[in-house]
Amino acid sequence: MREFDYYRATDLASATQQSAQPETHILAGGTTQLDLMKCDVLRPARLVDITHLTNLREISLSSSSLDFGALVKMSEAAESQDVLSSAPAVAESLMLAASAQLRNMATLGGNILQRTRCAYFRDPHAWPNCNKRQPGSGCAAKEGLNDNHAVLGISESCIALYPGDFAVALTAFDAVLHIQGADGQQRRVAVDDFFLLPGTRPDRETQLAEGEVIVRITLPLSPALANSHYLKVRDRSSYEFAAASAAVGLELESDGRTIRDVRIALGGVATRPWRVRQVEQALQGQPLEEKILRDAAELAIEGAVAHQHNGHKITLAPRVIARALMTVGGLA
Ligand code: FAD
Ligand code: SF4
Repeated sequence: MREFDYYRATDLASATQQSAQPETHILAGGTTQLDLMKCDVLRPARLVDITHLTNLREISLSSSSLDFGALVKMSEAAESQDVLSSAPAVAESLMLAASAQLRNMATLGGNILQRTRCAYFRDPHAWPNCNKRQPGSGCAAKEGLNDNHAVLGISESCIALYPGDFAVALTAFDAVLHIQGADGQQRRVAVDDFFLLPGTRPDRETQLAEGEVIVRITLPLSPALANSHYLKVRDRSSYEFAAASAAVGLELESDGRTIRDVRIALGGVATRPWRVRQVEQALQGQPLEEKILRDAAELAIEGAVAHQHNGHKITLAPRVIARALMTVGGLA
C-alpha cells in the first residue's frame, strides 16, 4: 500500500471541510476503502476518518419513518428490533451480506458506496484497460470473464455490476439520503436518483460531490415495507455476492387477494440498484396469483443484454422476483 496522511475528524464540519481537500478520501469501516488501496486501485494522499463522529450512530423509528445514521454498523441495523419489525427486507439485505466480521466493521454509508467487484477493475497492474479506473482505456471485461457482470443498465464503456444488497432494499422503498457538503448545507437525494448509469463516464458512479458526506438515511414507513422480503440467490449460501436478488414489499386490499401496493428492486444484475416500476405497475390492482406474478416479473428484464458468460442472470432475475413476491404473499 502507498503512504498516505491520516486525519481523524471530531465533528461533521471538520470532516466535510477536510474531505473537500484534493486527493482526500473518507474512511468509515475501511472494508472497501482499504481493500482498494491495497489493490492500488485507490491512491488517496489522505484519509479523513469519520468513525469518531458519535452523532451518526443512531437508529430511530418514528410514526412515519425509520432513520439510520451513516455510521450505524451493518450488524447493528440487521439485528435491530425496530428494523426487523418495520422493514424486514432491509434487515435481511444486511444480514445476508458479507460475513459476520465484515458486518461488525462496515457502516451503512460505506456499504451504499461500495465499489464493483469486477476483477479487471480491481487489478490495475494486470489489466490497465478499465474505463471505470481510467476513462478511455477500454473494458477488459467485455471480452473477458463476465459471468458476474451486469445485464441491465450497461453501456459500451462498462458492464460492471453494482454488488451491494442494502441499497437495493433502500431503492425499492423510496429511501432518501441526507448529504452534507463542506459549506455545512445539507441536501436530500432519493437513493433511486443517487446512483448514475455508466454511460460514457463509468468512473462517475453517484451524485456525491467531493467533500460531501452521507450523514443519514431516511426510509418512509409503509404497509408494503412492513410486509417485505429480500431474496438473495448466490453461488454458495453465505459470504457471497448475489447472482440475482430482489427486494419486494406487498400490500393487499381488504379482500386479501387484490394487490394494492407492490415495490420491487433488483440486485446482482444491473450497474446500479434497479427499481422495476414496469413490474409494479403491471401488478397493481391484479389478483395475487402465481401465474400473474410470473408473467409480470418477465417485464423486469426488458432491454437486458448478456455477454458471453452472464446470460443466466436474464433467466434468474424474473424467477427471483416471482419467488420473493410469492413468499410475502403467502403463496410459497
Ligand atoms: P469504507 O470502506 O470505509 O468506505 C467505502 C467507500 O465509501 C469509500 O470510498 C469511502 O470514502 C466512502 N464513504 C464511507 N462512508 C461514507 C460517508 N458516510 N459519506 C461519504 N463517503 C463515505 N456487501 C454487500 O452488500 N453484500 C455482500 O455480500 C458483500 N460481501 C462482501 C464480501 C467481502 C469479502 C468484502 C470485503 C466486502 C463485501 N461486501 C458486501 C461489501 C461490504 O459490505 C462493504 O465493504 C462495506 O459495507 C463498506 O462499508 P465501510 O464502512 O467499511 O466503508
Ligand atoms: Fe472496468 Fe467496467 Fe470494464 Fe470492469 S466492466 S473492466 S469496471 S470498464
